[in-house]
Amino acid sequence: MKRPLSSFLGTATLFGVCAALSLFLSEWILGSFYAAINYRTFLFYLALYLPAGAVGGAVLGLFLKLFSSVLSSRWIGVNRPSFLPAAVMFSFFYIYGFYYINEKLTARVGALAPLSLAADLAFLLLSFLVFRLVVALPERKGSAVLGFLEVGFLPLILLVGVNLRFFIWQPPHTQIPELVFGTIAFGLAGLAGAALVWLHAKILTASASTGARFASVAVMAAIVFAILVWSGTPSTASFDRTDDEFLAQEAVQKPKNIIWIVTDTARRDHVSVYGGQRQTTPSLEQFAQDALVFDNAISAAPWTLPSHASMFTGMFPSKHGAHFVGDAMFSTPLVPGNLTIGEILSAHGYNTAGIAANNAGLSRQLGCHQGFQYYFDGRPLVFSMFWGKVLLQLSDDFRIDELWVNEVCLATEMEPIVNNWLDDNADDGPFFLFVNLMEPHGGIAFVPEPYDSLYGFDRQRQQEVFKDFDADKVVFYQAEVTDEHRAFWNGYVQRKITFMDAYLGRLFARLKEKGLYDDSMVIVNSDHGELFGEHNSFGHNTDLYNELIRVPLMVKYPQAAKTGRDAKLVQTVDLMPEILAQLGIEIPANVQGQPIDQANHPVIAELFQQQHNAHAKRSPGRYYRDLRAIFGNVAGDSLKYIWASNDKAELFDMANDPDELTDVLQQRPLAADSLRARLGRWASSFKPMETKGQTRNIDKKELEKRLRSLGYIK
Ligand SMILES: [Zn+2]
Repeated sequence: MKRPLSSFLGTATLFGVCAALSLFLSEWILGSFYAAINYRTFLFYLALYLPAGAVGGAVLGLFLKLFSSVLSSRWIGVNRPSFLPAAVMFSFFYIYGFYYINEKLTARVGALAPLSLAADLAFLLLSFLVFRLVVALPERKGSAVLGFLEVGFLPLILLVGVNLRFFIWQPPHTQIPELVFGTIAFGLAGLAGAALVWLHAKILTASASTGARFASVAVMAAIVFAILVWSGTPSTASFDRTDDEFLAQEAVQKPKNIIWIVTDTARRDHVSVYGGQRQTTPSLEQFAQDALVFDNAISAAPWTLPSHASMFTGMFPSKHGAHFVGDAMFSTPLVPGNLTIGEILSAHGYNTAGIAANNAGLSRQLGCHQGFQYYFDGRPLVFSMFWGKVLLQLSDDFRIDELWVNEVCLATEMEPIVNNWLDDNADDGPFFLFVNLMEPHGGIAFVPEPYDSLYGFDRQRQQEVFKDFDADKVVFYQAEVTDEHRAFWNGYVQRKITFMDAYLGRLFARLKEKGLYDDSMVIVNSDHGELFGEHNSFGHNTDLYNELIRVPLMVKYPQAAKTGRDAKLVQTVDLMPEILAQLGIEIPANVQGQPIDQANHPVIAELFQQQHNAHAKRSPGRYYRDLRAIFGNVAGDSLKYIWASNDKAELFDMANDPDELTDVLQQRPLAADSLRARLGRWASSFKPMETKGQTRNIDKKELEKRLRSLGYIK
């Protein structure tokens, strides 16, 4: 520590930059193996990491310089030559690991729960052990950068690698809580790194040439990267033996291509195929000429993850289990025990791809990639996790085109990915392409002109109209949503839908151009809708009213074999079995949906306790409850009964009151009893997927804070 302050600070700053670069490059290289990261994203995040590393290194250097005399040199080896690089490595290692442990792992038990605090402490001790091991290395000469590479680089890339792989491995099948498992994994990554650092020092003693030392670090890093990449390949072979036998069956009929497009959050009444005053979706109207248009399609759930999981598995949320509680990042994932349409079609020789704009709801972390040979989930998991939050603190609407700071991608960002995939794969045999588009959803505020200012949308006016607006008043005091507000919302969302529709027009044109349109089965539907003050509620993970679960659904069969309108009550869980039936592939026995022509199962939607909702914190009595809706005929009347775990059941007359404005439960108790009994029989007809009990004990305050920082709630 006898170096002058300036030299000491300079070295510490350099080490900080090296540490940040190590983290960044590891994230980028490993992230590239499962997400398309364009170079502008790379440069953008690089520009964030470098100054952060420099500032972090300088601050740490200053701290160490000022306090080194009072630190116990025996314990932390202040006077050892490896001290400074090891201290910088330790700091970056610990902060990075601490952030991800608390970001990803504590959700199920709460950040301040004893288990979480114990995990934080355990990780601190393990990190310190890593530091202590590498600081004890014998003295070596050479440049500062080489010094850092030899001491700090390998533990850092192992930490990043384990972080990324851990969330691809999805360890919920283990009995060990993820928090314990994850913390140990993070700590072991550091120890493995320290072991490599020691190995390196033993093999290449101080007398080795600088070139040999650089080369040996590079070789070790390459081996580490290779192991991490290899170990992290998402598995599609995750079903049990019965499924294997099932999948061994031959397809009876010559397969066709399947293209399945989900317009995330598009309300039925915002899609002009279903009427309305504006022609919001001219491309879909044209597409609908070739398709069978379903007037009464019901989604199994009112939010992204369970709804998609139901579409992919043909099962209702309580059976596939991907419905829990928590925010979008920490929901119970679709676990590998489920069999998905992607797995079945992959096993039948289909080339399968999922390209999803909704990262928050459909990320790999949530298991939605299961069965897809190619999967794009909206943005890299890595970069924007932390920086996205930092930037969202600066502005709710921060986004730079093609830099996925938000949770989601625009259709124009999806377009090249879909086009490239089609160009590369469409000629290689039958394929199943799933595309999720995100424009109608809340995360996207702006779309490019001329769409942005369609339907009278104006940012200035937005501020005026909503100057005195308080959604809480609507939710808690039943305040009216004015016509002006509603008109504004309609325009706000519909302009985004029209932007998305323009992309769909280009996609259909491209499919036709490539000769892929006529022979293919093309499905377009929404996963759920959205509430804009109806039923005194907002958002979409709140209720089971029709605005949320009665969704647009159009199915184009090969050669447009079926067209027109169909008023039959159908469900999005029927689409997976419908596809299999069209292909002549047997439907797995545990699938609850049925091919559309034969479907006669109860029409059901489910919602389990949600902390997603912006108002939930202030009104837990209203939103923290489980809901199940069943549609059915009783004494000739078409009714909908909504069961609620807080005893606030409702009954609506679908024929006379499709907007569910008048609860007739008091007037028709027998009808309600009848539907409740049907619901009970349905619920006891299968074994629900066990979701972990502790998932309900989330520290709500902590979770709200995280969701707010993600921009998910206001
Ligand atoms: Zn959704």
